Parts: sequence; structure tokens; C-alpha cells
Amino acid sequence: MIRDAIRETLRSHDTRRSLSVVVPVYNEQEVLPEFHRRLCTVLATLDMNSQIIYVNDGSTDGSLDVIHGLDARSVRLQLVDLSRNFGKEIALTAGLDHADSDAVVVIDADLQDPPELIPELVSHWLDGYDVVYAKRTQRDGEGVVKRATAFLFYRLIQKMSRVAIPEDTGDFRLLSRRAVDAIKQLREQHRFMKGLFAWIGYPQKAVPYRRAGRFAGTTKWNYWKLWNFALEGITSFTGGPLKVATYAGLASALAALTYGAYFAVRTLLYGNPVPGYPSLVVIVLFLGGIQLLSIGIIGEYLARMFDESKKRPLYFLKTGRSVAPFRRAAPV
Ligand code: UDP
Ligand code: MG
Repeated sequence: MIRDAIRETLRSHDTRRSLSVVVPVYNEQEVLPEFHRRLCTVLATLDMNSQIIYVNDGSTDGSLDVIHGLDARSVRLQLVDLSRNFGKEIALTAGLDHADSDAVVVIDADLQDPPELIPELVSHWLDGYDVVYAKRTQRDGEGVVKRATAFLFYRLIQKMSRVAIPEDTGDFRLLSRRAVDAIKQLREQHRFMKGLFAWIGYPQKAVPYRRAGRFAGTTKWNYWKLWNFALEGITSFTGGPLKVATYAGLASALAALTYGAYFAVRTLLYGNPVPGYPSLVVIVLFLGGIQLLSIGIIGEYLARMFDESKKRPLYFLKTGRSVAPFRRAAPV
């Protein structure tokens, strides 16, 4: 108790810059001790007043106990314990909401993001960049299909969206205070974080690194989840797919017109022997398909509007305290 009070007093007189490290944790009991050890070693080399914020995203294994047992002698520890599993994006947001430092680093607990890169991120921040993101040059431990789909996805979203979302970056990055404050104002339920980080603007800088395989445990991703993640990214950042209906409609109208003209001419020249059953079926099926597809696309957007319109808080904490949706100051 007294030791805590002394440390708090010392901290409040600390004039160094402060750094928080936000770590979303979902069933990471095997990795956490090693992760914590490596992170603390790195933080000790920085001359900063640092703290680690572990966000327990409703882990069902022993992660919470492991966090409670972590060594807090050399660094301040904060635990944000969510009321259930909300997903990584929301866990990250909860961590950012609780960080009050000059800069915040966001990092995965599975050691795929090397903590040893943090000093380099910090040095670019000191040079004046607001968002310093780690860009992977190589992905170890990931198959060809995963690499190919990731590659395609980044190229696609790059083409479709107006903000430049950097390729081959995860969430591992450093954010300045004003970047964090900007992110905190974006309270949408569907959080495509890479997009949001890019959307806020401010000077951004890429730092290349080699992404390792997971240290232990298993990834929570499968192809269905990745597909939905891609949908999330596209629908959150571009209305482009909504135009499919317009253009498909236009194209099929043109095709119908041409086909009609061809029939008119042919009937005039050769009479009408009433064939054409297969072409009729093909056309009906084709149009039916396009219509269903268009309705589906509209549905994707509508479902997201439905979620947003409920204006629910993004998460609840185990302690019963929830962070209210960020409110902008009343206009003066
Ligand atoms: N994570 C989380 N909530 C989830 C899923 C994952 O907080 O619902 C955390 C997880 O503990 C890890 C990070 O997010 O620290 C990245 O998860 P994972 O390694 O499964 O994703 P990948 O590296 O494959 O993208
Ligand atoms: Mg991982």
C-alpha cells in the first residue's frame, strides 16, 4: 500500500515523457509471461515513464490470473477487464480509452510484433510523427494462401477507398497523444482499425520489420473470419460496391437493347420460328443473380447502419464501470 503511494508520488513528479503500451489479450496464457519479460526489458532501455495496459478481452483460459501474477516492479501495470469477448478492435479501443500518456504503442501479445521495435517507433515519434506504424517485409509461419489473400485484399481496398490505407501493416504502431484523441472520437461499432488509423491523417511514418510466427498458442483467425474482416474494411471505407447495381443494371439494359435490335432485324429478314428457350433461361437467371447480389450488397450496408443506429457503448468493464461514448464538447 505505502509502496504504491510512494511510487504514485514519485510518478507524479516524473517530468519524463510518458508511454503506454496497450496489449489486447484473448487466451494468451502460454505467451504472456515471455511477452511481458521481453516488453519490460525493452521499456527499461527507454528513458520514459512507461506503463503497460493489458486489456483482457474475455479470455476463457488462465490469462487473467497470469496478468495478475506478472512482475510489476519495473513498470506500472494496468488491467482493463472487459465483461466478455468483444474482439480485438474493441479491446484496442478500450486500451486507448484508458491510456493518458504522451504516446501509446499498440502491440499484440503473441510476440508476432517484436517489442524490440518500440525504441525505433519512439524515435520517429520524437522526430514529430503522429502515427508510426510497423510495416512487415516478410511473414514467417504463414501459408501461401494467407499471404496471397492478404496481398489481394490490400491492393483492392487501396483501389477502392479514398484514404490511403497502408499495405502489409497490422495494428502494431505508435500513436501520439493527438492521434489517440482523434481515434477516441471515432466511436463506430464496426471498427476497421487500420482504416481508422489512416483516416485521422497527421504525419505518418512506416518502419519496416520482419513479422515472426506466433510464439505459442493459436491464431483466432480462420478464412471465414478473414473474409468478414475484408468485408468490414471495404464497407467501412467505401460505398463503391453499392454502385454495382447501377452499373450492372446499365450494362444489362444495353445488352438487352442490342439483343432486341438483333431480334428485330432477324425477324424482318427470316421470319419468326420461335426458338430461344435456352437464351431466355440464361437471361432470367443472370438478371435474377445480379438482383440478388445487389440486394445483398445493400443489405451489408444496411446491417451496419442498423448496428450504428443503436448507439450502444462499445464495451463494458467487469468492474461494472463502462466508458461512455465519447462526447464532443458542446459548441460555444
Ligand atoms: N485478440 C483479442 N480479442 C480477440 C482476438 C484476439 O484481444 O477476440 C488479441 C490476441 O490476444 C492477440 C491479438 O489480438 O494479442 C492478435 O490476435 P491473433 O494473434 O489471433 O491475430 P493475428 O496475429 O493472427 O492477426
Ligand atoms: Mg497473431
